[in-house]
Amino acid sequence: MGLAVAYEILKQGHSVTLYEADKQLGGMSASFVFDGIRIERYYHFICKSDQPLFDLLEELDIADSLRWSETRMGYYSQGALRDWGDPRALLKFPGLDLISKLRYGLLAFTSTKRSDWRKLDNVDAVTWLRKWVGDRAYDLLWRPLFELKFHHFTPNLSAAWIWARLKRVGTSRKSLLQEEMGYLNGGSDTFLDAIAGRIRDQGGVIHLSRPVKEIVIAAGRVQGVVTEEGLCVYDRVVSTIPMPYVAAMVPALPPAIRRAYDSINNIAVVCVLVHLTEALTPYFWLNISDPDIDIPGLIEYSNLNPLGGHIVYAPFYIPGEHPDFQQEDAFFIDKVRRYLVTVKPALRESGILKIAAGRYRYAQPICEPEFSARLPPVNPGVDGLFIADTCYYYPEDRSISESVQLGRRMARMAVKEK
Ligand SMILES: Cc1cc2nc3c(=O)[nH]c(=O)nc-3n(C[C@H](O)[C@H](O)[C@H](O)COP(=O)(O)OP(=O)(O)OC[C@H]3O[C@@H](n4cnc5c(N)ncnc54)[C@H](O)[C@@H]3O)c2cc1C
Repeated sequence: MGLAVAYEILKQGHSVTLYEADKQLGGMSASFVFDGIRIERYYHFICKSDQPLFDLLEELDIADSLRWSETRMGYYSQGALRDWGDPRALLKFPGLDLISKLRYGLLAFTSTKRSDWRKLDNVDAVTWLRKWVGDRAYDLLWRPLFELKFHHFTPNLSAAWIWARLKRVGTSRKSLLQEEMGYLNGGSDTFLDAIAGRIRDQGGVIHLSRPVKEIVIAAGRVQGVVTEEGLCVYDRVVSTIPMPYVAAMVPALPPAIRRAYDSINNIAVVCVLVHLTEALTPYFWLNISDPDIDIPGLIEYSNLNPLGGHIVYAPFYIPGEHPDFQQEDAFFIDKVRRYLVTVKPALRESGILKIAAGRYRYAQPICEPEFSARLPPVNPGVDGLFIADTCYYYPEDRSISESVQLGRRMARMAVKEK
């Protein structure tokens, strides 16, 4: 989002300096070298509705790096792998009566057709889903996934937010029976390198490993930012860092606004990445509902992006305050070794070439009913200051495309302000 802000500010004819705390660009979409393969730390797929991303790829002359794959979704449930994600799979799914299946299918279909989310804004997702699909289908198909992803926040999720996810994935299809997902040849790096290159070419300055310590305000106007180099004066400051860091970074903001930022809950992720000698399943996305497995799914990335190896992501979503988040990587890696064999009993220990874990503290904001009403405006009442993060594109879920769109919008707001 910060890169999109910087790119758009330059495009509007102004100068820009970008501060990144990490030693590399990309935040959640950054990559690393894993067993000789350069790959994103966390799984990423692109959907057909990601138009703001496609527009920017065009502008950066890298639209030809966008690739589409026919992907399959699966469900590990009742001790076996099952097809999932299309009407045929739904009809074949065991343990559900026909009426529940028809109700489930109707929910999936109407979700792709709905465009107005306002009526869902003040409804909680569990009530909404139970009403649509019934208790039995909810308990079998949704409850395990929700509880492993959202934990104690499960009863208080916005139905509008869950609907937006259903729609984004549900409309990324070639036909009723064929899902189609995208990726960038070269991964997110292709995009990050192109946009950073364009920013530098146009005179923008990018500082890595330089966290902003404070955003300084005086007399109702932003003055600049404090970094290890002291105060750097700017007449506009746009913050796109995760919201939980903001209140401490802008101590001069009114307490009510800082409290509103602090009140947004987040889930952390510990993501285990595995390099296998062989495919685990034929699925890109495998939902899991099994009492002995405490992750909501496995993402077999190489079934989306054939990058020359069999790569699986296993995400543990954990509240950051939970003691498990303090566990060593080995705690999660050992679990994943067991889960892989549960899903594919024929997998041998020697089939795991490499396994590693990474973690991100603020990986997923929790969007509760009436979420947008809780967010302070992007301009929190201080001239020249603009603040947002991934939760500001509610009801849409976090995505590169939404971050691009919001970043560009914030830049235009900043430039227009008198
Ligand atoms: C497990 C997982 C799976 C995902 N899957 C997908 C997917 O399939 N498709 C998709 O489109 N998106 C996906 N996303 C989301 C996508 O990665 C994010 O929406 C996007 O990267 C958000 O970018 P951002 O810049 O808004 O925020 P972030 O990536 O959070 O970036 C914030 C940046 O701020 C920096 N920062 C923090 N504090 C400071 C400071 N004081 N000073 C300077 N810099 C600071 C951080 O280092 C970071 O680089 C996924 C994310 C995760 C975690």
